[in-house]
Amino acid sequence: MLVVIAIIAVLVSLLFPAYRRARESAYLVWCMNNLGQLSKSWTVYTQDHSGRLVNAATGVNPLTPELEAGWVLPGNSRDSVIQGPFYPWVPSLEIFHCPKDETGHFRSYSISDYLNGGEYTEGREVRTVNPIAQPAQAILMMEENDPRGYNMNGWCVPPRQTQRFNKTQWVDPAVWWHFEGATLSFVDGHVEHWVWTDPRTYAVVFFMDTPENADIARIKEAIEPLRALLKP
Ligand SMILES: [Zn+2]
Repeated sequence: MLVVIAIIAVLVSLLFPAYRRARESAYLVWCMNNLGQLSKSWTVYTQDHSGRLVNAATGVNPLTPELEAGWVLPGNSRDSVIQGPFYPWVPSLEIFHCPKDETGHFRSYSISDYLNGGEYTEGREVRTVNPIAQPAQAILMMEENDPRGYNMNGWCVPPRQTQRFNKTQWVDPAVWWHFEGATLSFVDGHVEHWVWTDPRTYAVVFFMDTPENADIARIKEAIEPLRALLKP
């Protein structure tokens, strides 16, 4: 009997990591599917508005206070998503939330601040889709874990090097809960899973600088749509 129990225990110990990995893979596929649907709908929304991008800001936009609602409204509630101007293009609350997101947020995803948002973008954001010559290289959406109760405003990192920011400086953190990486989409609608290589990326706080961090360098390479325009 003891031998049988021991064998079962060994089998369970062997199976459990496999089961857990399968579950995590399912979460990742689900999340990437959400991002794909949101991103394709972002394109349709843009086409329906003659190339004008939906506002990436989801707090009170300091650049356009009360003039233009963000794609979802401020706050962490069903209504903040459902009553936002973007919801008719994706009329399903579940698509806005990743099953791996255990922060309590109703919405897991943010639009890049460079796409009609911008507080720390140093004036390099775009308002229409026209200037983006290489949409497959410009980040559209990121999964975010904003510690302020909901994913406030767009997802932002500063440009690579300015007088104000160092080239390895962050503003908003990235998530790490998909196999120590994050999901993100691009302006052309495709979705990627980036695994972080630097442990500091898992613990970024607002405005943190992480010198020699390859993860932030990779993000900055893809975050500025006008920089993408200039690349060969
Ligand atoms: Zn996710």
